Amino acid sequence: MFDFLTEKFSSVFSRLTGHRYLTEKNISETLDKVKDALIEADVPYAVVNAFVDKVQQDVIGKKVLNTLNPGEQFIKVVHDQLVSFLGAIKSDDSFLFRHGQIVMVMGLQGSGKTTNIGKLVHYIVENAKLPKRVAPKILCASVDFYRPAAVEQLEIVAKAAGASFYRAQSGDPVAAAHEIVSYFKYHGFDLLFLDTAGRLHVDNQMLAELQKIDHSVHPQIKILVLDSMTGQESLRVAQAFDQAVGFSGGILTKADSDSRSGAAFAFCYELKKPLFFIGAGEKMDELELFRPERMATRILGMGDVQTLLERAQQKIKESDQQRLEENFNKGIFTLSDFAQQIDMMNSLGSFSQVLKYIPGMSTAGINQDAMSRGESQMKRFKAIINSMTPKERADHRLLNGSRKQRIAKGAGVPVSDVNLLIARFEQMQHFVKLFKKSGKFSPFKR
Ligand code: GDP
Ligand code: MG
Repeated sequence: MFDFLTEKFSSVFSRLTGHRYLTEKNISETLDKVKDALIEADVPYAVVNAFVDKVQQDVIGKKVLNTLNPGEQFIKVVHDQLVSFLGAIKSDDSFLFRHGQIVMVMGLQGSGKTTNIGKLVHYIVENAKLPKRVAPKILCASVDFYRPAAVEQLEIVAKAAGASFYRAQSGDPVAAAHEIVSYFKYHGFDLLFLDTAGRLHVDNQMLAELQKIDHSVHPQIKILVLDSMTGQESLRVAQAFDQAVGFSGGILTKADSDSRSGAAFAFCYELKKPLFFIGAGEKMDELELFRPERMATRILGMGDVQTLLERAQQKIKESDQQRLEENFNKGIFTLSDFAQQIDMMNSLGSFSQVLKYIPGMSTAGINQDAMSRGESQMKRFKAIINSMTPKERADHRLLNGSRKQRIAKGAGVPVSDVNLLIARFEQMQHFVKLFKKSGKFSPFKR
């Protein structure tokens, strides 16, 4: 979903890094491009204006033009504003692990309520394997009696994900909700996901019914599921739900579609509610915790190394992980780290999926052909790094002409490939240092 913005922003900003001098004209041209990109991404106009104003104020306030690396500082200002627009309120997943609570899931018909209850159960079950987490006993139940087979659908996904399921006897949604809660309490479950009915459009009858259920059940958490394809309209939908029933936060679904981030900005900035999760596919595990900080880094084409690491967690040796973590926290990034990232990519499968997590390597707009060229390039990079001595891997500045020739020969590639690797690597190192210096990049804190 954010690929569109990543593509636009990367091309706007790649020209700024490394600039010794920036002029006011430079900055205002870049701001215009940022504005165009956001408008094209379907971000509401008012939000775009507020964003650009904020960036401009910060650029002046922080006297970016007079700093040592104005290009980098400018990007950092944009990054920080992206974070603040996407997540004034910090979201995390701990709310899902509090025992005894009722989670009511609401949204329009087809937005993905039922599917996402399955995904949430799966998420909880998987994450309960982490230290200090205990798997709650989860119950799922539905009061969606309007859509044919909606209840059966929930039964299937709930059981597949590892939760229990209860079918209410009553056919009246409010009475059924009451009955479900009694069952939930009587059987000592820890967590209840209550699936509700939606309509195709915001509808007063639907909202009135939800209000009644809300009053009867008193859910601790109310989640609004929003289809990101709804674009700007999603803001009105969210406002209607908020006024009538209120909710704690949202899940934005179908981020794998070609929708363009507008809904996320509208939701976070206009409603000042956290986005808990982003859904990016029909499969059970295609649910990602929404982290504004990481999303901003990804939008700017600077990768998201931490998410990559988390995805690789089961597949990479713990000792290797720790070393990488420590280095990153110190702002260190060596060729060995790079080689390890290439290994992680291989262990994770699809090149294109993984590449966008790596600093400076956004894949937005790259076609399949370029992708497979990239894949074989990574193989060559790996062979080149393998041909180096440990000392060279730890400090690439040792690589003079004769060393490069030796390495190229060992890897069976031309020297130009070695130079290309070094150039790429330096670019990545640059990003890692930039975020370390700013103190903003703390990728290993959950
Ligand atoms: P509900 O009416 O709100 O309960 O919606 P459903 O859970 O039945 O989902 C409607 C459709 O959207 C189903 O075909 C889901 O597979 C699909 N869907 C849900 N979430 C996602 C997502 O993140 N990506 C994609 N591509 N499809 C999704
Ligand atoms: Mg449903």
